[in-house]
Amino acid sequence: MAFNVHRPLLRPIFQPTTALLMLAVALPAAAASVDTQARQPQIEQIVANISPQRIAAYVDKLVSFETRHTASETVSDTRGIGAARRWIQSELVRCGAAAGGRLQVTMDAFIQPAGPRLVAPTEIVNVVATLPGTQPAERARVYVVSGHYDSINGDQLNVNAAAPGANDDASGTAAVIEMACVMAHYQFDATLVFMAVAGEEQGLFGSSHWAESARQKKMNIAGMFTNDIIGSSRADDGRVDGTQVRLFAEGIPAVSEMPDAIRGLIATGGENDSVSRQLARHVKEVGERYVNNFKVTVIQRRDRYLRGGDHIPFLERGYAALRFTEPNEDFRHQHQFVRVEEATQFGDLTEFVDPLYVARVASVNAAALASLAMAPAAPQQVLMRTAKLENDSTLSWQANPEPDLLGYRIVWRETTAAQWQDGLDVGNVTQYTVKGRSKDNFFFGVQAVNREGNASVASYPIPAR
Ligand SMILES: [Zn+2]
Repeated sequence: MAFNVHRPLLRPIFQPTTALLMLAVALPAAAASVDTQARQPQIEQIVANISPQRIAAYVDKLVSFETRHTASETVSDTRGIGAARRWIQSELVRCGAAAGGRLQVTMDAFIQPAGPRLVAPTEIVNVVATLPGTQPAERARVYVVSGHYDSINGDQLNVNAAAPGANDDASGTAAVIEMACVMAHYQFDATLVFMAVAGEEQGLFGSSHWAESARQKKMNIAGMFTNDIIGSSRADDGRVDGTQVRLFAEGIPAVSEMPDAIRGLIATGGENDSVSRQLARHVKEVGERYVNNFKVTVIQRRDRYLRGGDHIPFLERGYAALRFTEPNEDFRHQHQFVRVEEATQFGDLTEFVDPLYVARVASVNAAALASLAMAPAAPQQVLMRTAKLENDSTLSWQANPEPDLLGYRIVWRETTAAQWQDGLDVGNVTQYTVKGRSKDNFFFGVQAVNREGNASVASYPIPAR
């Protein structure tokens, strides 16, 4: 067939519904198509190369510094946060060189003033590894993945007692180092930033500093993931569930002044179509495509009660940002002094981290990052045309700049559905009318698709006459 008019997302391909077969006759023949559901060999290789053994070794090494408290000592080469960050830097430099020298490792250092959780002004250092995009038209589009390498024990101000932080958050830091080392061997159209941040436990200082400087530089951060407490599949009641990870995705951001884009969402019932929710849909679809027997459970809120993470400074600056966290946390092994009480071991120790589980979460991250950085940008200026009352749905958008662009796909779902349910390849056009499918009854999105079959995150249309 010359074009595949209907590509169901949840059913096998090439089984168009009768109604859409009839519709196919009326469509222009320009809608070239490519299979966006197929696994890309490069992403399969990346996922296959994520190593639980290396992740275990990274966690062990981070725990060996005894404490990585943000205000702990920095002179020793074996103890404290200074030794920890120099080791992370050397590890990223070493594997960047082994991968051909394209990974750029920098130390993003600044002085954080004293405050309620920091007794003196303290130097905070983010270790940042950047893999520049290879497509000049897409290099400025950036995806960030982070873990925090600082740790605490049962007293936020105690810089000397052991704070192993194996799960919180050597697990996320190890995942980020492993992703950087594996992915540095490959080329991506857009830019990837792998970041180990500090000052998280004292108030998200490292991530706030980096996100603020990104905002001031007007960086195009198209997506950010933080990995925080991804180390264990065991709940406090002993249940083990290694088959899923929680992905926290904020809807309408809690901002004091409402931008027009948010007003457009609310006015059309689009509170489940924020940029972070669109990103989460994409991560769930791609993560589950590449990591077998593993579920990405989207939680439609910013974070857990009483807790926060390094995605929040990005959300607060208008970027799409998500948090990965294990399914059932065991609070005996977070923010605790290492001790035994009534035969119960407390403390964030290595023995409670499962490297196989961390590797699965790292694989979901890596597959999603690779897919995003190989795909075009989400279409801009996407509008739902509302000039007259009708049951067809006309969408328009700005043309994408990527040289390898194939065309666009319009996706939709019922208003109560969480994930996209259906889609239509519409060719390389910037306006299209979906006949007989009312914008009143479905949520629509527009994706850009390139010749290799990589589909962008969907963009939600705001209404316009
Ligand atoms: Zn944490």
